[in-house]
Amino acid sequence: MTIRSINPATGEELETFEAHDEAEIDSALARAERAIRRLGEYGLDGRAERLIRAADILESEAEAFGRMMTAEMGKPLAQAKAEAEKCAWACRHYAETGADMLADEPIEAGDKGRAFVRRLPLGPIFAIMPWNFPFWQVFRFAAPNLMAGNPGVLKHASNVPRCALAIEQVLHRAGFEAGCFQSLLIGSDLAGDVIADDRIRGVTLTGSEKAGAAVARQAGAAIKPTVLELGGSDAFIVMPSADLDEAVETGVAARIQNNGQSCIAAKRFIVHEDVYTEFRDRFVAALEAKIVGDPMHADTDIGPLVDETAAETLMGQVDDTVKAGGKAVLAPEKGRLSFVTPGVLEQIPPASPGYREELFGPVALMFKAADLDAAIRLANDHAYGLGSSLWSSDEAEIEAAASRLEAGSTYVNQMVASDPRLPFGGVKKSGYGRELAREGLFAFTNAKTIAIR
Ligand code: NAP
Repeated sequence: MTIRSINPATGEELETFEAHDEAEIDSALARAERAIRRLGEYGLDGRAERLIRAADILESEAEAFGRMMTAEMGKPLAQAKAEAEKCAWACRHYAETGADMLADEPIEAGDKGRAFVRRLPLGPIFAIMPWNFPFWQVFRFAAPNLMAGNPGVLKHASNVPRCALAIEQVLHRAGFEAGCFQSLLIGSDLAGDVIADDRIRGVTLTGSEKAGAAVARQAGAAIKPTVLELGGSDAFIVMPSADLDEAVETGVAARIQNNGQSCIAAKRFIVHEDVYTEFRDRFVAALEAKIVGDPMHADTDIGPLVDETAAETLMGQVDDTVKAGGKAVLAPEKGRLSFVTPGVLEQIPPASPGYREELFGPVALMFKAADLDAAIRLANDHAYGLGSSLWSSDEAEIEAAASRLEAGSTYVNQMVASDPRLPFGGVKKSGYGRELAREGLFAFTNAKTIAIR
């Protein structure tokens, strides 16, 4: 099998790679198993030092890594460079805070003597990752897990092999020796064999609902813990007390970030009827001003979608929503290759893709709500529940949204974003488990009870 790196902005094939065969996979898993001991020997201090070296490399070469990401998957260069820098932040964060979070937790247990919980690594973790944030998705897994002592085995999306190999190199150059972190260049057809292998002790997947269900089934059969970070169609609720200037500006940025291909992008804009028309008109005007074009160019706001199939899927969802009775206030248009201009739909019927599915591209879905209760009902009337945001300055509204929105997070008067300091994950079909923060650091650890009398 050949793995291809293709520039979506030009259609040019950048490079091809021969996929790893069964013998190479076997050797990689053997190295990963041996690396448990190696990471143990580094100790917390040695792992932290290596993560700091990885952060230095990511920062000093952010421009080159950014160009690599943009060439492989089309995000605007400034966002790609910022992504490399964010990975450096995650490495530093776990290097600086990991040891304290991983310290033994004493528990008062009377006659059991001196009791505590020690967080021990589980062993090699198989990480299946998507192309949309080709560095960040991997580092938000790798930084806490290497700090916790777990070797990583990455199966990256098949369209970003250069990024996959570059990440392996960064960690290797930082001093994580053979087996601590490896990239397997394999298709998803071989993922099941890796999951079933006894040397793998846990599986994390970021990607689609379909892939998540397949991987959870396989991991369940092998009795291995999983973390699933899946799709989202996040609600962005705007109430009359909101600062509309900021809500419009952030809403547009949230919808078009990463060319509209972010799991936590605001996708469903649920706006109070008193400010609906004003918000919509200003949103459409701001969106129309965005520049679609070459993602390497500094002025470009929106690059191409990842490939032509993605563009056709998005256009099909828009067409079906309009056919079902939806209205295109700003109709997106497919240009050459996978370029799509931004769009806005409203009056979206419940039986249409715009209501039920995730639109993975720069198309916003607008809904009108009579009050906060109606807005929350609409927000929750979806299979996904990843990150939600509320725009309001009313404390009672903020309190209600914080408790009642069915989502892994609610960000108030700001954009939903993953942050190394804060737990990240979803509910319902958006997946389960958490990455980042204490929860992410502990996801693949053995919380071992020790009682000494
Ligand atoms: P995808 O097709 O599910 O691919 C993601 C990864 O899973 C790739 O490495 C892919 O490998 C692999 N994969 C696919 N099918 C598999 C299977 N049956 N068994 C094992 N591995 C399999 O996802 P996508 O459509 O490219 O990515 C977009 C989706 O990811 C969106 O739904 C988005 O919302 C979601 N996402 C979620 C988060 C989050 O944090 N919750 C973050 C980013 C993206 P191949 O490339 O080889 O097929």
